[in-house]
Amino acid sequence: MKKFLVLGAAALAFSTPATAVDFFTIGTGGVTGSYFPMGVIICQKVNAQIKQTDLYCSVESTGGSAANIENIKSRRVVFGFAQSDVIYQAYQGVRRFEGKPYRELRSVMAIYPEVLSLVINKNAGISRLQDIRGKRINIGNPGSGNEITTLDLFGEVGLTKGGLALAGTLKAPECPDALKQQQIDGYFYMVGHPSANINIASKLTGIDLVPIEGEAIDKMIKRYPYYIKSTIPGGTYQGVNRDVPSLGVKAVLVTSAEVSDEAVQLVLKAVLDNFSELKASHPLLAQDAVTKQNLLVGLSAPLHPGAEKYYQEVGLLKK
Ligand code: GLU
Repeated sequence: MKKFLVLGAAALAFSTPATAVDFFTIGTGGVTGSYFPMGVIICQKVNAQIKQTDLYCSVESTGGSAANIENIKSRRVVFGFAQSDVIYQAYQGVRRFEGKPYRELRSVMAIYPEVLSLVINKNAGISRLQDIRGKRINIGNPGSGNEITTLDLFGEVGLTKGGLALAGTLKAPECPDALKQQQIDGYFYMVGHPSANINIASKLTGIDLVPIEGEAIDKMIKRYPYYIKSTIPGGTYQGVNRDVPSLGVKAVLVTSAEVSDEAVQLVLKAVLDNFSELKASHPLLAQDAVTKQNLLVGLSAPLHPGAEKYYQEVGLLKK
């Protein structure tokens, strides 16, 4: 195995002459979200091969999708998780990334669906999305996918930050306690389910999940290729027994075009070779939507060439 992950000039940044092992990091999200445990699971599989590869994988807790993409671009991390809508916007240079398209952004795999969750205190008087007007709602920390998707949603359904009593910028892990302390009436979280975060909220206080549905949402799903109709199944969280319809995206592992094929294939191999074991290791991966074939569904930046070759080799992609 070559002792570097990145081609060209950046190779220097990743070659560590003093040690036999090279390190690389996967940017994730808050520790109670789903990017973080998924990053840990992938790294465990990569690190099980350390004798053969001399590569050590670690995870970093971050502010989420846009933060991860920006950290890949500035070479602070080699891989990162991001929502398919945020990846689209970064690659195309629209919305938050207006005028700054990141054309070297590359997809590795679209692992599982994330569903936009509006978690509320059940006594907050919110039963429909439009009821959040005049309420204290956490939108998400700047750089999170939560903030980006929520503001897109607002644009489609005629809601504004100004129409809220508070448009909060807390990080997702801080939200369950803020809900319990009644500092906020609810929070938006784009996350895979079940998530520790919402589980914690449901244990700390009485919660409900508000349906995100209707004509405007259907139009949004039709107009943008990266949105899908999704559901948070009833019984996922204490106190929420009915299915809750909402807007979904894919959680995608991304990297940069300058990262070597070898590094990308190592990560992909760690996942594909251990797929059944991984599916059994976390309820999020156990869902039917998580299949090898679906790793290629929901990509909004081009596949990394190393990934493309690997998918072809294992027969998941036509040559
Ligand atoms: N989708 C969220 C974001 O991009 C993070 C979810 C997670 O940490 O699992 O900010």
